[in-house]
Amino acid sequence: MTASLNAVERVNQYLAEQASLDTLRFITCGSVDDGKSTLIGRMLFEAQMIFEDQVASLQSDSKKMGTQGGDIDFALLVDGLASEREQGITIDVAYRFFATDRRKFIVADTPGHEQYTRNMVTGASTADVAVILIDARQGVLTQTRRHSMICSALGIKQVVIAINKMDLVDYRQDVFDRILEDYQAFAKDLQFTEMTAIPMSALKGDNIIERSSHMHWYQGPTLLGLLETVDPRASRMNHALRFPVQWVNRPNLDFRGFSGTVEAGTANVGQSIRVLPSGATAQIQEIVLFEDHLESAEAGQAVTLTLDTEIDASRGDVIVAADAPCEVSDQFEVNIVWMDQEPGYLGRSFWLKLGTTQVNAHITAIKHKININTFEHMAATQLELNDLSVVTVKTDRPIAFERYQDCAPMGAFILIDRMSNQTVAAGMIDFALRRAKNVHRQKLEVDKAARRTLNGHTSRVLWFTGLSGSGKSTIANALEKALHAQGIRTYVLDGDNVRHGLNSDLGFTDADRVENIRRIGEVAKLMVDAGVVVLTAFISPFRAERDMVRGLFEDDEFVEIFVDTPLAVAEARDPKGLYQKARRGEIPNFTGIGSPYEAPLHPDVHIHTENESVEETVSRLLAELSFR
Ligand code: ADP
Repeated sequence: MTASLNAVERVNQYLAEQASLDTLRFITCGSVDDGKSTLIGRMLFEAQMIFEDQVASLQSDSKKMGTQGGDIDFALLVDGLASEREQGITIDVAYRFFATDRRKFIVADTPGHEQYTRNMVTGASTADVAVILIDARQGVLTQTRRHSMICSALGIKQVVIAINKMDLVDYRQDVFDRILEDYQAFAKDLQFTEMTAIPMSALKGDNIIERSSHMHWYQGPTLLGLLETVDPRASRMNHALRFPVQWVNRPNLDFRGFSGTVEAGTANVGQSIRVLPSGATAQIQEIVLFEDHLESAEAGQAVTLTLDTEIDASRGDVIVAADAPCEVSDQFEVNIVWMDQEPGYLGRSFWLKLGTTQVNAHITAIKHKININTFEHMAATQLELNDLSVVTVKTDRPIAFERYQDCAPMGAFILIDRMSNQTVAAGMIDFALRRAKNVHRQKLEVDKAARRTLNGHTSRVLWFTGLSGSGKSTIANALEKALHAQGIRTYVLDGDNVRHGLNSDLGFTDADRVENIRRIGEVAKLMVDAGVVVLTAFISPFRAERDMVRGLFEDDEFVEIFVDTPLAVAEARDPKGLYQKARRGEIPNFTGIGSPYEAPLHPDVHIHTENESVEETVSRLLAELSFR
């Protein structure tokens, strides 16, 4: 009887040990024929043998016992895979699981062909470590660079440079050294913080699990030895607490807990926390792991938290340290890898999934593409398969996030096509374009609403857009006069007071035009906050920029007014003689001649100046827009 109990205890102890082991996720990247399958096969085989040995003896123990029904609950061992499935990633990445007695491993095995970059990106987006395979006979290839770029862009900090097939180069140190030198020269611009090169032969088993007897010149770790000991969470341990809520655990009326994984930092009983985006605060009352109550939980642990106060939090919210909250925003500049055959266009709506949050999002602007081989920036109007680009993204509601560089799990996201449910892009947040102001709940005593009440009128921006000479300034000035006469505080922003001052450092390249409009948008926003009716008169030729500015404001604060005057009419008026100059070639990039004008698709007000006098337009605007 005692012996049987011991067997049960041993089974339970083993399962408990396995459950408490952390999981390392890694990805293997290699070109076709680099030996990736052989490598994975060998690791699975050798590690699995160790693992299965133990399981076999446990199984016979539990069979002897009878009461366990001869079954072992492997669910505890494979918990890591569940979250993979939950991500809804259905594309062609084979996730393989194995374990040693030190650690559990999930390896994302992705095809090496160029057209499968998408799969590689998907695998890499959840990996802690990348194993980059190089064929010792081939050295660093374009594919090696591409894979490394993607791993770096996806924020993998730790890489293993696995220089494989050493048996085919007679295990020579000079071959290894030369390849490593090549690789380091290329990788110095990447964001890796730890790089270990291992000479190996996956086929012969050199330096995979057993140390090689052919390369005494190599003193470093074996591949599995390294993977067993790297700590991908080290940098996340010192971080402030970040706990995305995966689900609300409510088994009975007395218990309400928030379940999820500590992605960064440590959760302690008694600690003050804040729920984002709402900003509500409370203290951690209990930290529950299965049946146990813990004093603290650190990065990587999946636990359930209960709080001392009933506050609202649901899936997608993030529990953070109250004194070190992360940011909340709905607009971001991000690095993105496009993974779909269908190009990515501005304005199209996708699901954006970041951790446990899922929101609607669209791309508001493409800043540039990056050439994967030279790191050069290139202009782009749409995103093609495998493109790595810098874009701005807007979500339909604010989300809690961190810069990807600071905390990968809080800054990595995927875009999902709403129709097909396919993952079409993987992205990393670089910074927020607009930070939510309500997060810290430090309500200003005198705010926009108070200023509006004092003024006796509302504040908003009337954004005039149209060709040069269409009539923007003329109408804006006439309207300002009429508003002023009604006792409404106004301000006209136009080229004279902006281009010559605030934006005097900007020219007329596309990038400068975008920055010009961005700054004007920010200034207008401050003025609207100050309670003023702002009238802007800029050509603002691109939809994306106008949408970007619209995104800075509350729904009814931004009024887009299209001053629609045909090019021929505006050119005939030519109030500043600019068209003549442009026709003579003296002004490159002049809108309507050397550079396009993208008419608004759904302007709030549409003015045809050919059919409407300035006075008629002003009366119409006064009638259609309410200010009190
Ligand atoms: P923009 O600011 O769009 O470059 P301006 O307001 O400086 O254009 O110039 C528009 C020119 O067109 C002015 O000379 C104005 O008198 C003339 N104009 C003629 N009809 C109209 C109209 N209905 N509305 C606005 N401007 C008009």
